[in-house]
Amino acid sequence: MEENRTIIIVDDEAETVKGYVDFLSPKESAAVRRSSRQPVSSSEKIPGPGPSAAEKYQLLLAHSGEEAVAIVQSELKADRRIAAGFFDVKLEGGMDGLATIQAIKALDRDIHCVVVTAYQDRTVEEIHRIFGEEFKDQWDYLNKPFTQGEIVQKARQMTAAWNRKRQLEEMNRQLLQAERMAAVGQVARGIGHEFGNILLRIMGKTDLALATQDPAKIHDHLQVVMKAAERAAVIVRNLQSFSRNEPKFQQDDLAAALEEAHSLVNHELVKASVTWESQVRPAPKARLDRGALAQVFLNLVINAIHAMPKGGKITATIEERRGTDGSQGVAARIADTGTGIPADVLPRIFDFAFTTKGDRGSGIGLSVSRQIVEAHGGTLTVATEVGRGTEFTLWLPVRKP
Ligand code: ADP
Repeated sequence: MEENRTIIIVDDEAETVKGYVDFLSPKESAAVRRSSRQPVSSSEKIPGPGPSAAEKYQLLLAHSGEEAVAIVQSELKADRRIAAGFFDVKLEGGMDGLATIQAIKALDRDIHCVVVTAYQDRTVEEIHRIFGEEFKDQWDYLNKPFTQGEIVQKARQMTAAWNRKRQLEEMNRQLLQAERMAAVGQVARGIGHEFGNILLRIMGKTDLALATQDPAKIHDHLQVVMKAAERAAVIVRNLQSFSRNEPKFQQDDLAAALEEAHSLVNHELVKASVTWESQVRPAPKARLDRGALAQVFLNLVINAIHAMPKGGKITATIEERRGTDGSQGVAARIADTGTGIPADVLPRIFDFAFTTKGDRGSGIGLSVSRQIVEAHGGTLTVATEVGRGTEFTLWLPVRKP
C-alpha cells in the first residue's frame, strides 16, 4: 500500500499558511564541505531542515472552517482520503478550529488532527471533552509560534498513525477472509460427497426414465431429477455468496443466513448422527451481510457437532427479541446437547487462537464470529452447562431503513 501523506492546513492567516507550506516542502539538500582539508568539489550532501524528499506531503489549503469542510467533502467524493490536518483554533467566519474538526470527523472518522493555538485559550482537557474518548488517539496539540521541527514531526506522526491504522484494517480483512475460506474448507469434503449423491440420484432416475415408455412414470422420475438438480444449485449459490470477498449489507432475514449455513453442513450432520431442528418464528428483517453471518452460523454449528461426538441434536431458533435497552432486534439461538463448556474454559472461548481441540482446532472461529456480529452492532453470547449442552445467542439490532 502506498503511504497517504495528504494533509489539510486550516488557518485564516495567509502568512501562517505559507509558513506551513514552506516547512513541509522537502528542501534541496545543502552542499557543504566536510572538512577544510578536502577540496571544495568533494562535497557531501546533508539534508536541509525540511522533510526528506521521500516523504513528500500533499497539502490542501483552507482559509476557513467552511472551506475546509468543502475540501474534505470534495476529496471524499473523488475517493481520495486526507490523512491528517493542522487546525488553527481561532478562525475568521462562523466556525472555529474545533467546530471544523467536529464537522470533518463526522464526514471522515479516520482523520488525524493537530489543534494549533496561539492563545492557549482552550486547554487540552477542554478539547478532550469536546472530541470525546473515542477520538483521543487521533489528535494532538501545538502552541504558536511553532518551529519547523514541531510541524514536520507532527505531520510525520499523524500521517504514520493514519497509515498504520489502514494497514491493520487491511490485515484484519484478510484474516476474516482466510477464516472464511477455512470454514469452506471444513465443509468442502462433505459438499463433494453430497454432490456425488445428487449425481447418483440424477443418473439413476434418468436411467429408469429411459427404460420405460410409461409417460406417468417418466414424469415422476424427471421430477426427482429436477429436485436433485435444484438442491445442487442451492448449494452452489450458497457457496458463492459465502466466499464473496466484499461485505454486502442489506435488509435481509437472519433466517436466510442460517439456512445458507445449514444447507452446507447436511453431510456433516448425517455423518455425526446429529439431528437438526429449526424453529423460525416471525421476525423483522435486519441490516446484515448474509454471507458473513452464514459464516458465523457455520462456525457455531460445526462447533456444536464437535461437542457431540456420540451424536445429539441441534436446535436452531430465530425469533424477534428486544435488546437489553428495549430496542427492537432479532435473535438466533444455536443450542446443542453436547459436552458443555467447563467453567475454567468458558472465559477464554472468544479469545483469538484459543482452542481445546489441539491440532484439529484453530481457535479462530468464535473470535472472528464475535467480531462479525459486533460489526453488525449486535452481540454474541453463550450459556452452557457441563454434561447438558451449550447455547449460543446471536442478537442483531433492527433499524428501520
Ligand atoms: P476451534 O473450534 O477451532 O477450537 P473456536 O474459536 O470456534 O475454535 O472455539 C474455541 C473453543 O470453544 C473450542 O476449542 C471449544 O473448547 C469451545 N467451544 C466452542 N463451541 C462449543 C460448543 N458448542 N460446545 C462446547 N465447547 C465449545
